[in-house]
Amino acid sequence: MRHEKTPLPMIAVHSLTGCAGELLVILENLDKLLPYVQVVSFPFAQSKNEMRPVDIAFVEGSVSQTHDLEKLQQIRNNCRWLVAVGNCAVWGCVQAGCAKTSPQEMLKAAYGQDINFDALPATAIDKYVPVDVKLSGCPINATQFLSVTASLLKDHLPYITKKPVCLECKLRENGCVLIEKDLPCLGPVTAGGCGALCPTFGAACYGCWGPSEDPQMEAMSVILEEKGYAMDEVLGRLSAFGAPKELFSRSSNFQNRKSE
Ligand code: SF4
Ligand code: SF4
Repeated sequence: MRHEKTPLPMIAVHSLTGCAGELLVILENLDKLLPYVQVVSFPFAQSKNEMRPVDIAFVEGSVSQTHDLEKLQQIRNNCRWLVAVGNCAVWGCVQAGCAKTSPQEMLKAAYGQDINFDALPATAIDKYVPVDVKLSGCPINATQFLSVTASLLKDHLPYITKKPVCLECKLRENGCVLIEKDLPCLGPVTAGGCGALCPTFGAACYGCWGPSEDPQMEAMSVILEEKGYAMDEVLGRLSAFGAPKELFSRSSNFQNRKSE
């Protein structure tokens, strides 16, 4: 009797507007996945690509142009699991953080006054389509990416920690740079996942994983103020990675209440 081989699950890796950092992380780890998946589309890494139904589609980058949106809708219609990879896809990141500048002004600043193409205000992809898994990071962490993929290949939604960086920092038995060196570490309000990379090397966390679950901005603001930092300046770093505006109004409401 002829033995039919079971087809491998199919994946696609797509890019919208981003720096391609996530694509590099995925590419570097692709050899670990290749025994278990068939890569149907990955324009960054291969020349033969198809838009067809797949089990998992990974999307990096924010929606910043009309063709990003059209592509995203096509991808959503063609996948079972949609995974937003990286802070641009999950939060909007740097391009979304420039909320005071219009997309057209940004284009002209970068490409000159004569430029004219279709730009949208940069946003996370879940503004437009349902997203099954959000994997933040700038760029993502390879271990997290592989474990998310392994879960989805087994038909389970993965667990992704939203606990703060401080938890990972303590697990590594790092000295606290906020307490011991008075550095403006945003670990208490930033989602873990990086393994507390920066504090492990004695530097303050600047929030590149985006906000943790229910970040205590009011408490953070008190601590930073006590250490002589301007809250706006420090939180500007979190907004650079696309943290939602309401978090900032929470801390400024607190500041206003204090001054009443
Ligand atoms: S160094 Fe930063 S991340 Fe680590 S425990 Fe202190 S505040 Fe938290
Ligand atoms: S800035 Fe914070 S979240 Fe980003 S890698 Fe460093 S410790 Fe991790």
